[in-house]
Amino acid sequence: MGKVLIIGAGGVASVAAHKVAQNPDVFTEVMIASRTKSKCDALVKAIGNPNIKTAKVDADNVDELVALFNDFKPEIVMNLALPYQDLTIMEACLKAGVNYLDTANYEPRDEAHFEYSWQWAYRERFEKAGLTAILGCGFDPGVSGIYTAYAAKHYFDEIHYLDIVDCNAGNHHKAFATNFNPEINIREITQKGLYYEDGKWIETEPLEIHQPLTYPNIGPRESYLLHHEELESLVLNYPSIKRARFWMTFGQQYLTYLDVIQNIGMSRIDEITYEAPLANDPTKVEKVKIVPLQFLKAVLPNPQELGENYEGETSIGCRIRGVKDGKERTYYVYNNCSHQAAYQETGMQGVSYTTGVPAMIGAMMFLKGIWKKPGVFNVEEFDPDPFMEQLNKQGLPWHEVFDGDLEL
Ligand code: NDP
Repeated sequence: MGKVLIIGAGGVASVAAHKVAQNPDVFTEVMIASRTKSKCDALVKAIGNPNIKTAKVDADNVDELVALFNDFKPEIVMNLALPYQDLTIMEACLKAGVNYLDTANYEPRDEAHFEYSWQWAYRERFEKAGLTAILGCGFDPGVSGIYTAYAAKHYFDEIHYLDIVDCNAGNHHKAFATNFNPEINIREITQKGLYYEDGKWIETEPLEIHQPLTYPNIGPRESYLLHHEELESLVLNYPSIKRARFWMTFGQQYLTYLDVIQNIGMSRIDEITYEAPLANDPTKVEKVKIVPLQFLKAVLPNPQELGENYEGETSIGCRIRGVKDGKERTYYVYNNCSHQAAYQETGMQGVSYTTGVPAMIGAMMFLKGIWKKPGVFNVEEFDPDPFMEQLNKQGLPWHEVFDGDLEL
């Protein structure tokens, strides 16, 4: 049915590539391209399908991307590299006439700040080119928006309160590790919190607001209010929403380490210069420039290598309150994903799995012609039903609780 190019060969891309290979009726030709080609080759070997092509590409370089797109001629590019590359890849898609999908919104390297404006600015150009761009098609953002769209379509006349709840109750037996790219992850968590209420955005200190929430099959876990990108599009697409928040669980040990990392300056994203003794003459020094957070990433455990000893599960869902036929009702829709089951299937832990599977389904929706319209869209702007059906088939089954206590 279609030709897909996956950019990136990290944890999320590894899962997406496994799932793409499991659906050969949809994905008839596949290429994986990334900065380090050997990682793409290792991934193809792990999947065991020698027909998957690989290439080296620097996704910060539009010309290199365009040359690769013109050579392979994919119908859709799955951008599973880092948020820094979103705009260069979108730019190259426009130049080469290729459709686009990603799992995280653009972030400038020198500012830990995310918002959709940079990517929404491409709406008219994608529309005029007759190309589709699907933004934020992982789990959160991604399935969180699709769950909301599904709730709005089937169960509510108006959604009033939306709480996205993300629990990782897994244990990887490391003192400190992040579950996806450490640089991106730490930038996200150390930002100020933000939520939406009565038409306004309210800022909080980082991790200032927290409370225990009970997760299915897991129990109560302390959950912290964070800013998360999907809130921005969801409150626009569902204007009846009075309050929208995002919660994520963290263990005490994780927070203690994070505190230390921040207090000693290792989460800084500005460039610093330090004096390093020369290897051949330690009495002399050379000036070396580093970004502390990038250096920290290099010494932290690689999230792709957490899978083998990872126990427990994730539980991510939407807790929604609103009205249907004049009556108030609540709805909770969620998925629990086992880290070990994810590892057995794809060699990656549950956080990569819950992101890579929806990315594959989004590309499938496009290639089947179900999610295909010219322009730049967030996932909740498409029909959620066929996507929800695939979640059940592709390893992320969901469950519903009607009129229960949302705790929020
Ligand atoms: P990783 O760090 O494991 O992988 C990133 C990959 O991108 C690496 O293979 C890296 O190459 C490659 N890459 C980085 N820069 C470039 C470049 N300039 N050109 C080409 N390739 C490049 O990250 P993850 O797999 O954990 O995360 C991938 C994406 O998924 C991120 O954007 C993250 O924010 C997003 N995400 C979304 C979630 C959601 O639910 N929506 C949840 C989790 C993650 P190299 O190997 O050479 O470094």
